[in-house]
Amino acid sequence: MKKFKPTGRKLIIVSLLFACVTFYNCRPRKPEAIPAAGRAEVKYLGLHVLVENKKAAAELITEIPRLARRGVNLLFVEVDYNYEYQSHPELRGPDPVSAVQVKKLVSLCRQYRIRLIPEFQSFGHQSWEKKTFSLLTVYPQFDETPGKYPDNQGIYCRSWCPLHPELPDIINALYDELLEAFEADALHVGMDEIFIIADPDCPRCRGKDPAELFALAVKTAYDHIVLKRKKEMFMWGDRLLDGKATGYGEWEASLNGTHPAVDLIPGDIIICDWHYEIMPDGVYPSIPFFLEKGFRVLPASFKNERAAAELIDYSLQFPADRMLGHLCTIWRQPEAGKTHKHPPLALAARRLRASAQAL
Ligand SMILES: [Zn+2]
Repeated sequence: MKKFKPTGRKLIIVSLLFACVTFYNCRPRKPEAIPAAGRAEVKYLGLHVLVENKKAAAELITEIPRLARRGVNLLFVEVDYNYEYQSHPELRGPDPVSAVQVKKLVSLCRQYRIRLIPEFQSFGHQSWEKKTFSLLTVYPQFDETPGKYPDNQGIYCRSWCPLHPELPDIINALYDELLEAFEADALHVGMDEIFIIADPDCPRCRGKDPAELFALAVKTAYDHIVLKRKKEMFMWGDRLLDGKATGYGEWEASLNGTHPAVDLIPGDIIICDWHYEIMPDGVYPSIPFFLEKGFRVLPASFKNERAAAELIDYSLQFPADRMLGHLCTIWRQPEAGKTHKHPPLALAARRLRASAQAL
């Protein structure tokens, strides 16, 4: 066989070609599509709903068969304080979901092979507009900013104090009741959009590093849910992302110093990486970021269909061993006969089905 010996001008041409190929391969870009033979099918088409009263629970129960036909196989039911807790009845919302309703939901989800996971908003989101939720009205000492911001004027949501020594026992009791009532193998602890943290007026948190405080709150939940109860833990990912470096800004990512916590929390937490806006060139840098850190990732969309399509298409290019599928959020109560028609949910179902068929 004639051997190719690059000498003189040929050597220069070969070197230039090599440099061009190297430059081409190193430039920032969307990831190459993973060859079908090397990619497993994604696990989940998920849906996240708010269930804050008995009517919402009843509507969801009615909607389960249609959601299953749509392809939903993972359902996050965010109940927060709106369950008839026995351990702390003083924290029940005004019209709490009953244990009987939850049992019906459990039974239906089992019948339709939907993984059912309760969600409890932890740390942040302790108020909404003028309403402060029960934990901080019954136990104002757990408020990170007690007495500040009357009627919640000037703030987004209240936070609890992650360093209050009496808080974990109460919250863990609520987590336990949800895990048991929902017969769940996992819990979603929320933890998104926390803006009040390390408040200068909190005697325990003032002067502390927000990333260390956030990581401590995550680990407090993790120690109970994963280490003690042997369940999986899901959380929203925005506080773990650098809002400036990623270009996501202060909502979908953090500009308040929490993001270094990503290196301080356990790697077997599942990150729900929510992005509701269209990103330049359809690139969502948090997905490879979390995957490279070793996390399992469930990207999440809301109501902007084009943004949802771009997020889904971008995320489907990554191997499915840790890129788990897609989660649709509606941020409202479910409605019988309507929720399964949520346009981004229908779109996600089509995209995931097409991806599976291409394998
Ligand atoms: Zn505090």
